[in-house]
Amino acid sequence: MNNALYPYLLFWSIGLLCFAAEWLYPARPVAYRSIFWRDLLALALYNLSFLLVVQVTDRIPIPQYLPVALYDLPTVFKVMLFYIVEDFGLYWVHRLMHTRAVWPVHRWHHSPTSLYWLAGIRATIPHIALFNLTYVVALPLLHDASGWAFQLIMVEHIVRNNWMHLNVTWKSSWLERVFVTPRYHHIHHSSDPAHQLKNLGALLTIWDRMFGTYYNPDALTKELSFGLGERVNPVRLLIGL
Ligand SMILES: [Zn+2]
Ligand SMILES: [Zn+2]
Repeated sequence: MNNALYPYLLFWSIGLLCFAAEWLYPARPVAYRSIFWRDLLALALYNLSFLLVVQVTDRIPIPQYLPVALYDLPTVFKVMLFYIVEDFGLYWVHRLMHTRAVWPVHRWHHSPTSLYWLAGIRATIPHIALFNLTYVVALPLLHDASGWAFQLIMVEHIVRNNWMHLNVTWKSSWLERVFVTPRYHHIHHSSDPAHQLKNLGALLTIWDRMFGTYYNPDALTKELSFGLGERVNPVRLLIGL
């Protein structure tokens, strides 16, 4: 198979599974017919923007900072180290995006009024660039790691965005002790001011607990509603200005 097609095939195979999960166990009704085609355009824009962004971020000369003594660490430890550093960076980049000055680059991501697996694909170029920076900075930790590590991380990164926005009733309080789940991230998308700036984590929930932005999904007392709650010029929304 053409290797360049592999991520796309994987993405849509996972997408079909997500559709099936949402059809079987929907948390809220979603008007797919009116939003799916728009999100397909957002996906095309995302893929195009990502190709542009990596042209820049891949050229950033990040020094090899993994100590020589750790070169022989088993790949599994390097992967864990990578995720801790990347996820810590993602948390703070996300938090930065919720400051008044940087909010416009992230606003589009918060625009969907109903959440489902593809709703989180809305991302401006600076949004993608800032998040990709954390990946590039953490990459030296995978020095000499086995090939499977890169495969795993690629697949996990594809799955994660779908997972976080998935519209399912499923919940797991024990998993949320460590990992972000759909209902955990949905709180972050809530238009209720009490929920904004909460649950900023991307993969791990520990940063929210450590830095005071944790909101326990079990403490929710009313149904969530999503969206920006303000009208923004669509062009400004798309370019992040
Ligand atoms: Zn956000
Ligand atoms: Zn999101």
